[in-house]
Amino acid sequence: MDERRIRGRFAPSPSGRMHLGNLFAALLAWLDVRCLGGEMLLRMEDLDPDRCRREYALRLADDLQWLGLDWDLGWKAEEETYWQSARTPYYAAAFEKLAGKGLVYPCYCSRKELLAASAPHGSDGSRVYSGRCRTLSETEKAALSQSGRKPAWRVWVPAAEISFVDGNFGPQAQRLDRDCGDFILRRSDGVYAYQLAVAEDDGHMGVTRVVRGWDLLFSTPRQIWLMEQLGYEPPAYCHVPLLCSPEGRRLAKRDRDLDMEVLRQESTPRQIVGLLGYLAGLQEKPLPLTPRELIPVFSWEKVGRADRVVDHAVLEKAIRR
Ligand code: GLU
Ligand code: ZN
Repeated sequence: MDERRIRGRFAPSPSGRMHLGNLFAALLAWLDVRCLGGEMLLRMEDLDPDRCRREYALRLADDLQWLGLDWDLGWKAEEETYWQSARTPYYAAAFEKLAGKGLVYPCYCSRKELLAASAPHGSDGSRVYSGRCRTLSETEKAALSQSGRKPAWRVWVPAAEISFVDGNFGPQAQRLDRDCGDFILRRSDGVYAYQLAVAEDDGHMGVTRVVRGWDLLFSTPRQIWLMEQLGYEPPAYCHVPLLCSPEGRRLAKRDRDLDMEVLRQESTPRQIVGLLGYLAGLQEKPLPLTPRELIPVFSWEKVGRADRVVDHAVLEKAIRR
């Protein structure tokens, strides 16, 4: 029995207005933790200064509240604690800890070199880094820095299999060296990578349940391994299906008609939650209701693993007034 307090989290990136797909994952994260009587935390993942904006974060928090998806701790506009952009000292400390174990090395490869040298594809279709810069001598490194190249920093992963049981997708396993490869902890522009930030934050913030889209399923072994290296106990993971357009494309920020800007003009919070509950398999028709009314009917068996198509017919019926 895990004695830690049950704690879930929303961890959105404020890089635009939320769309129906983000709301779907947020509702399921909220239901998962509320059903267990746990607490919810909100953290703004605004690491990437080129994509994230403060106004988007304010909107995002307001949109969650408007829908009735509340949180007990975490982000407040005026406090820096739960903005990733303000947590650099923590990521630096985590980075140093890994470096102290001899796991970190600079990678000077250009994009072109990476393409040329990368081995067969990783389990999520991304390329596996060859490890080319692992064995650079001090002299070679000095010469490369002098030539003006700024390195990215990678972590040397072991030939270990990381396995876990996903609460929705079942048993998962990944060989870090073969399926993933040495990954980046810090970009050449100094920005810490998502993998490091999320592992440090979930660990440091005592998160015990992570619910998010299955597009992050393949990142999970990396995060579990990092958390172990940093001395944290990894959370339980439940990955959720994605929402797709009728053409089978996953909903994205460019699907403007399904973002909160438009949804809030055309629909009530109960209509949107009702539609999401229907898409999640928790009710047979898209009838309006509140998140709280979905608590008694929530189960991971009903949600299942299949991606959901959002077509016009269901939208017209559920949310267009
Ligand atoms: N911030 C990430 C995103 O919006 C999610 C990170 C996570 O849930 O681990 O895609
Ligand atoms: Zn390299």
